[in-house]
Amino acid sequence: MSETIETEAQIASAMRTDAPPAIVLEGVNKWFGALHVLRDVNLSVATGERVVVCGPSGSGKSTLIRCINRLETHQEGKILVDGIELSDDLRSLDAIRREVGMVFQSFNLFPHLTILENCTLAPIWVRRMPKKEAEELAMEYLTRVRIPEQAKKYPGQLSGGQQQRVAIARALCMKPKIMLFDEPTSALDPEMIKEVLDTMVMLASTGMTMICVTHEMGFARQVADRVVFMDRGEIVESGEPESLFSDPKTDRLKLFLSQIL
Ligand code: ADP
Ligand code: MG
Repeated sequence: MSETIETEAQIASAMRTDAPPAIVLEGVNKWFGALHVLRDVNLSVATGERVVVCGPSGSGKSTLIRCINRLETHQEGKILVDGIELSDDLRSLDAIRREVGMVFQSFNLFPHLTILENCTLAPIWVRRMPKKEAEELAMEYLTRVRIPEQAKKYPGQLSGGQQQRVAIARALCMKPKIMLFDEPTSALDPEMIKEVLDTMVMLASTGMTMICVTHEMGFARQVADRVVFMDRGEIVESGEPESLFSDPKTDRLKLFLSQIL
């Protein structure tokens, strides 16, 4: 290889072949009472890979990613995150929560804390980081998401798009290895969607392992290595965005695409 590897993304992609998968789901089943919401889900996500999950409302997308950081528990099958199997063992839960950042549809910022305090809370209390260091780190990420000037304000003083970018910066302050996004733009006004997607594109370019539940197909085309289509708790189809969108194999995906595109 004569080319020099320069960017983090190139390093991540060079590592992809040998690194163990970041996330593995094997035969995962989950029920809410009698409702079977995840049916034999198998999915392996490589380090540095970007996966977009789409599918109709109620198909189990949120449940799937909530199981990955154990906000929900599965009843059958195995989930491994960075080689650690999810179980009721509190130490493994702790380890996983540190490695996995999550961004929700509703930004979930603490309303009574400033933007800066929202970002430093977990690093100080969970990571035991000195306050000054946590503040420097928070300012670095607020700069990356392009809102350092909002640091002293409260969430209610920011637009939805700005709040969602704070939520992303806050997650990044924990230095996660994996980022999970659950429809991060679906609560936003159209003019704010792009600023959040741009932030996610920036993050993808750093080589971050990402699973994004989204119906933003432009984003999927631009950054996803793979798109996974779910329906009624199953992974029905998956593949590279271009081939999946232009050549859907199942009627279920055809129907879904005709409704959203
Ligand atoms: P999606 O994110 O694709 O819209 P969800 O994962 O939120 O789908 O939901 C999958 C199914 O599980 C839906 O039928 C939903 O109503 C049900 N469900 C989700 N959360 C719960 C819960 N906490 N208790 C009972 N049923 C739930
Ligand atoms: Mg959902």
